[in-house]
Amino acid sequence: MNFVLHGHAVSTGITVGYAHLVATARLEVAHYEIAPDAIDDEIERFDRAMRAAQKDLEDLKAHIAADAPKEFAAFLDLHRMILSDSALSVVPKDLIRTRRSNAEWALVQQMERLVERFEEIEDPYLRERKADVQHAVERVLKQLMGAQTVVEPAVSEEQKLIVVAHDLSPADMILFKRHRYGGFVTDVGGVTSHTAIVARSLGIPAIVGLHHAFQTISEGELVIVDGERGLLVVNPDPVVLAEYRERQAELKAERQRLKKLKKTRSTTEDGTPIELFANIELPQDTAEVLDAGAEGVGLFRTEFMFLNRKDLPGEEEQFEAYRDVAQAMKGRPVVLRTLDVGADKAMNGGAGQHTMPNPAMGLRAIRFCLAEPQMFLTQLRAILRASHYGEVRILLPMVAHAHEIDQTLALIQQAKQQLEERDQPYDRAVQVGGMIEIPAAALALPIFMRRLQFLSIGTNDLIQYTLAIDRTDDAVAHLYDPLHPAVLTLVANTIQTATRGGMPIAVCGEMAGDLQLTRLLLGLGLRNFSMHPSQLLPIKERVLNTNLAEVQPAAQRVLRNTDPAKTRDLLAKLNS
Ligand code: PEP
Ligand code: MG
Repeated sequence: MNFVLHGHAVSTGITVGYAHLVATARLEVAHYEIAPDAIDDEIERFDRAMRAAQKDLEDLKAHIAADAPKEFAAFLDLHRMILSDSALSVVPKDLIRTRRSNAEWALVQQMERLVERFEEIEDPYLRERKADVQHAVERVLKQLMGAQTVVEPAVSEEQKLIVVAHDLSPADMILFKRHRYGGFVTDVGGVTSHTAIVARSLGIPAIVGLHHAFQTISEGELVIVDGERGLLVVNPDPVVLAEYRERQAELKAERQRLKKLKKTRSTTEDGTPIELFANIELPQDTAEVLDAGAEGVGLFRTEFMFLNRKDLPGEEEQFEAYRDVAQAMKGRPVVLRTLDVGADKAMNGGAGQHTMPNPAMGLRAIRFCLAEPQMFLTQLRAILRASHYGEVRILLPMVAHAHEIDQTLALIQQAKQQLEERDQPYDRAVQVGGMIEIPAAALALPIFMRRLQFLSIGTNDLIQYTLAIDRTDDAVAHLYDPLHPAVLTLVANTIQTATRGGMPIAVCGEMAGDLQLTRLLLGLGLRNFSMHPSQLLPIKERVLNTNLAEVQPAAQRVLRNTDPAKTRDLLAKLNS
């Protein structure tokens, strides 16, 4: 039977593929069969990752800080020993050869076998060593999954898999970055939830709020994800399928055409430079950032590194990740946002969240960090150390009060002092900025302008808090309106006040990557946009075709207007 489900498109494009029902939040590493003639290459890939992980451990040992606990070196040695043992260095290769498993899968299978054996040990100390096995293996997996050479599952353009789920948390979604799915659809979720944001960053079509997809679709059914109109077509008839294939080909040609703009300087028709930055969630995302020709990373959502794990990433692990991003960007600015956990991005699978009556308004982002100063200091030290390797800037999320900034600046000072004592280098002039995403902050800008060196408007939260709608709740998704006069007034005033005061101001929320809003934001004075890499080239094309002298008065008309129907007309005119 063929039918169509309607939802909210969160990532554009069209994919035709087969439904893959994901019922559980626990997603694992990709599992696929490799071709017989790819076995040797896969074994070489495995060996390379092993060697890189061993080298990582050696390097870490060579650079242990003088005041680090003694156990640290012993722990690094233990992990090297674990990786050298034939149970991990040889047996997975047998699995690759005999079962034609991909390297990640072979390694994880073997790790699970070892962990089971550890669990049978009576001695509690030895039993707990299973965590060391897991950590050591994760280091190899990081190499395998972060490497450019990852072998893709053997799915052709015609055989893409579409994930169909009732709900996916941002933590689940980030795991999909390691897989090669063709699209995502969920029954629930708001368009600017972090789940949707990660889906968008994957650059593949996604729809949320379909309500009955998980119940009504069977595993393996042919579906079309229409990310342009928010439609899921199940078991399409041949005519519909042919039409969609045609549209798919058009979109592909369009993407190819836009690639030519990668090196074009981003200026308006009248020659005003417009900075286009990219948002990332994981260190390995920098390849796409460079590929899109971005001027830098305008928002690194560091909290994604803290999800899907029971422990917190330590200073070394964080430092390596931030340093890798700084180095990959080769001197281009990298804005590292400090941990923004809470609300829909819960650590430890959400432990503690359930007791919060309203997590979006609770101990989230800077509030959480200031309540956990040791954890915050660890991140600040890691960021500062990375600042030695590139043009790193620190961005503070959800600031509303002067004392939050004062406290944070004091902690940054303390972190610097600790690095001085350890004789570790950092950029002494590292800039600190704040996100304007709570209406109170937008209305009291001087508080932030006096204390900080740059600002970035987080429109996703600014809209959520201004209009009092939960961005993760699809029941109120229709009320999420970037064009609401209250939202536009806050955005416009923030841009204007900051610009007049000589303070750099960017927009890094989803509004920055919305093609419908580019001219409006340019007309309101915005000169710095940060968005998903996949949106950068279409936005650049729009910038190149915009005349500031024309859009400025038109943007003011949109801003002054309070009639929603007229707003849409004015915007359509602005974009025509
Ligand atoms: C925002 O709120 O607009 C933003 C960029 O941050 P996040 O979406 O991660 O909350
Ligand atoms: Mg935000």
